[in-house]
Amino acid sequence: MRTVFLPSLLNGPTGDPGLWVDLLDEGRSVLLDLGDLGSVAPRKLLRVERAVVTHTHMDHFVGFDRLLRLFLGRERAVTVTGPPGFLRSVEGRIAAYTWNLIETYPVRITAEEIDGDTIRAVEYTGEGGMRPAPLPERRFHGTVHAERLFTIHAAAVDHGIPVLAVALRETEHVSVNRDRLEKLGLAPGPWLRDLKQAVRRAEPAEVEVRAATREGGERAFVRGELAEEILLRGPGQKIAYVTDLGYTPENVETVCSLARDVDLLVCEAAFLHEDEPLARSRMHLTARQAGELARAAGARRLAPFHLSPRYQGREQEVLDEAAAAFGGPVLALTPRSARPSARDR
Ligand SMILES: [Zn+2]
Repeated sequence: MRTVFLPSLLNGPTGDPGLWVDLLDEGRSVLLDLGDLGSVAPRKLLRVERAVVTHTHMDHFVGFDRLLRLFLGRERAVTVTGPPGFLRSVEGRIAAYTWNLIETYPVRITAEEIDGDTIRAVEYTGEGGMRPAPLPERRFHGTVHAERLFTIHAAAVDHGIPVLAVALRETEHVSVNRDRLEKLGLAPGPWLRDLKQAVRRAEPAEVEVRAATREGGERAFVRGELAEEILLRGPGQKIAYVTDLGYTPENVETVCSLARDVDLLVCEAAFLHEDEPLARSRMHLTARQAGELARAAGARRLAPFHLSPRYQGREQEVLDEAAAAFGGPVLALTPRSARPSARDR
């Protein structure tokens, strides 16, 4: 069953962390962490509508400049959210450049930081000379972003500094009942994507739509009636992205409540457990701890990532250790494994 989230890693398991999440049929994407973005084609990067930066250690934030550079000429706005102190970090990065002659550029970047129960935000525009213009403060109760299709949630974990753990939740899952499609003599095609999209977006039901028939023709339906007939609607999928945290009872509790019963937990497994003292001193998880965390949260699948480069060539050992502790399916997400969840739900 295809879900609205198509996650893939930005880089390999030992490269800079980052999760690319395409939104099915939407032509837009969400980016979790802005590590090295050098491997992402500009055309693809321009689809990013929102990014959440877990914290501003360099390997999670160094790609911000590339995003900034590309987005100078883009009409659509982008929102980048981070932990306490994030606005200062963004301001520092933007202030490093000279911005005369920028007035006519369409760039519009909203930066926001989550600090306790407050979200502070500023906007940077070409018109405004790329100086931060304050936006109204908002209360934060766990939700970073909410729209018809999906929501983004975050909670702070401890890595010596506050780090955001992130969860994405599909509001409702919409899929096609293939038997019904066949019974009506209809053939899959772009019309089906449009229909699902209209349902997800709660667009008007009393509209005529055209569906392709198996004979190569078209047939007219009322949108709401056709959707009722051939679409299945159920609870949405949930994925969580958790990285850079110590294995403390508080962090475990925070992740468990944020990522309860997730379909996919993308979780750091920085060290092998044989190097646990090192993991503890760097406030990272071992693969075993990642597996235990996934089990405690009731995750359906675990994708370990952000392995220390010291395990290059030993990635399988790390995955095996996480799998043994988790006791469930472990995926090796790759930069191109766009839809690990495509068929198994
Ligand atoms: Zn870090």
